Amino acid sequence: MDKDVHMPAALLARQQLDSGLKPDRLRHEQEQAHFNELYLLAPVGYFVIGFDGRILQANVAGARLLGVPRAAVGGHRFRDFVRRAWREEFDGFFESAINSRAPRRKQLEMTCADHGVPGPVVVLASADGSGQACRIVVEPVDGKLAALERSEERFRRIVHCADEGIWEIDALGFITFVNPKMAALLGCELEDLLEQPLVRFMDEEGRTRFEAHDVRRQHGRGERAELKFIRCDGAELWTSAATTPIFDVAGNYLGALALVTDITRSKASAERIWHQANFDELTGLPNRHMFRDRLGQEMHRADRGATFVALLFIDLDHFKEVNDRLGHAVGDALLAEAARRVKACVRATDTLARLGGDEFTVILAGLERVGSVDRIAQAIVDTLSRPFELGGERAEVSASVGIALYPADARAPDELLQRADQAMYASKNGGRNRYNFFTRDLQEAALARQAVAGELRAAIEEQQFEILYQPIISLRTGAVHKAEALLRWRHPTRGLLAPAQFIPFAESSGMIVEIGDWVFREAARQVQRWQRSIAADFQVSVNKSPVQFRRDAGQYQGWLDYLRELALPPQSIVVEISESALAGGADALLGRLAQYRMLGLQVALDHFGSGYASMAYLKRYDIDFVKIDPSLAQTLEGEGGELALYEAIVAMAHKLGLKVVAEGVENAAQRRLLLEAGCDYAQGYMFGHPMTAHDLETLATRILA
Ligand code: C2E
Ligand code: CA
Repeated sequence: MDKDVHMPAALLARQQLDSGLKPDRLRHEQEQAHFNELYLLAPVGYFVIGFDGRILQANVAGARLLGVPRAAVGGHRFRDFVRRAWREEFDGFFESAINSRAPRRKQLEMTCADHGVPGPVVVLASADGSGQACRIVVEPVDGKLAALERSEERFRRIVHCADEGIWEIDALGFITFVNPKMAALLGCELEDLLEQPLVRFMDEEGRTRFEAHDVRRQHGRGERAELKFIRCDGAELWTSAATTPIFDVAGNYLGALALVTDITRSKASAERIWHQANFDELTGLPNRHMFRDRLGQEMHRADRGATFVALLFIDLDHFKEVNDRLGHAVGDALLAEAARRVKACVRATDTLARLGGDEFTVILAGLERVGSVDRIAQAIVDTLSRPFELGGERAEVSASVGIALYPADARAPDELLQRADQAMYASKNGGRNRYNFFTRDLQEAALARQAVAGELRAAIEEQQFEILYQPIISLRTGAVHKAEALLRWRHPTRGLLAPAQFIPFAESSGMIVEIGDWVFREAARQVQRWQRSIAADFQVSVNKSPVQFRRDAGQYQGWLDYLRELALPPQSIVVEISESALAGGADALLGRLAQYRMLGLQVALDHFGSGYASMAYLKRYDIDFVKIDPSLAQTLEGEGGELALYEAIVAMAHKLGLKVVAEGVENAAQRRLLLEAGCDYAQGYMFGHPMTAHDLETLATRILA
């Protein structure tokens, strides 16, 4: 037998079925399906015939027997293929078969048995249990063995020429047989396929699916499923595959056989139709239909995750004028560019959709703070107010944005969209080129934030920021070794403001990055002076809020250059990072810490012991100092105070080579206990409140003297 067409195990399985030795695992409800698949490939002609004598179905061998393509057998009358001389007898036989419960058997001759040569056949006919049709099996009349040999021969021809791809795998999933059609579908040579794992011709997703079905196959479940293959040229081949498991007589799983039809084309057009139904052609964005789906899903997710969803309704201002003045083609180009700009303002996980015309929506999901919605809305307003250059034409529009929140403003998707739309109209009425929250409180708060953000911008330009320094002393000697830089804002009308009064605004408006940069450079200049006037190894520490920490990645190079310019060793600056930063994704933090270390800066873990961090963090992160939260100092003297905790932190920190700074030290008793606990440094009102650089220098020289 040739290498490429040996006998699939299906024949073996068929023999089992014929001899009544069905494997136990072949459950009753699947039996019918298996029969169907097996008969499709059986080496005998198999037909389902309506009571009017017309053929409803034929298997591969049957179609070949008639010389008619399998897809075209429907509608032919079976008797037309019976030799004229036998037709009357056949009619009587057919009549009696459909009226009888038992199968009828008859030998007769057909006109074009197999490849056109008429010959005697045995016809076995039985009425279908449904009472709708009759099944007919056509076999050559030769003796049993000869018949089997001939049918093998025929079978080989059939699978060789079949219109369907056929493959067989063994129990381990290696290909044991494929027909030429299958090789052609995959665009490979037969020998490239044989003895290869079938999953080699699938992608990751297809592989996972196919392997998951393995279990079902081994339990005797045949099925029809869509399988995706990757052709040898890398293209996708989508197929509909009817897979039938194969068992030996003892019921052991031997592998599976499948009949495969190419559905790549219909799949591609189905995908195109799906895409057309869900996406906007001009911008490629989800359309209204898809938007509704996503909004529903995100609202559902917010219910489970206790987060909220913000819906932004964006309407372009003056778009109609652009369209009228410059034509629709330019208008379309503007919409596409607007979509790109808005997309750049949101995360990949947010949904930007085009509802139609010049209306867009954005779904911001999984939110925890309103501040970030503000920032994104402002960014969208800003980006759309920049001029558009469109193939030599220049156009200007702006955007009116309305914001509604779920669950605060609405319960259902339509209602939320309506609220956002209403808020958008408020923006239009308010003069366009702005955003509005649906809820009045939120709107007022947003206005306040916008006002502060505007003032903060001016504050940098007008140098309204100041830094106060708080001394950090060595507990052992009492000398001032370091100072912490603490920011103040000398507000033109509200007086001197503490960080708590403006840092949150600076964070939500993004101004924190610029302010942080100013603090860093100011502190660097100061420590340079103090290394000359106080001590050569004097250090100044600067604070970084978690938000700032996540966003100021781009500034490192500038800082390094600045330190070089000042000829200042990088370890003169200590960056204080609150332990709460650890809560927002420790891996990102590790990367950032590594960047600081690369610059040569030192790092202090601030507010240690206030909640988030555990002792284990000290080991995990590359840091130089631990600053123990002032809240711990408050309870130091009471009954069962925190002294033991200090001792434990100190022991652990020292073992890891870190120094410990105790914060919030207000009296001599605390100072003494902390010294006993082994703390290295202390900071607190007892040694000095945050003070001007000048005052700190005086204090430092006095204690040192
Ligand atoms: P922090 O890092 O915990 O700073 C120490 C705060 O504790 C300071 O408040 C300081 O005045 C106060 N403090 C010092 N000694 C004692 C004491 O003995 N007892 C008590 N009860 N409090 C003491 P301040 O200056 O209001 O700063 C508040 C927070 O603002 C700082 O907390 C820091 O996280 C943040 N901050 C300050 N400057 C900056 C900055 O430049 N950038 C950023 N992102 N945050 C800053
Ligand atoms: Ca601090």
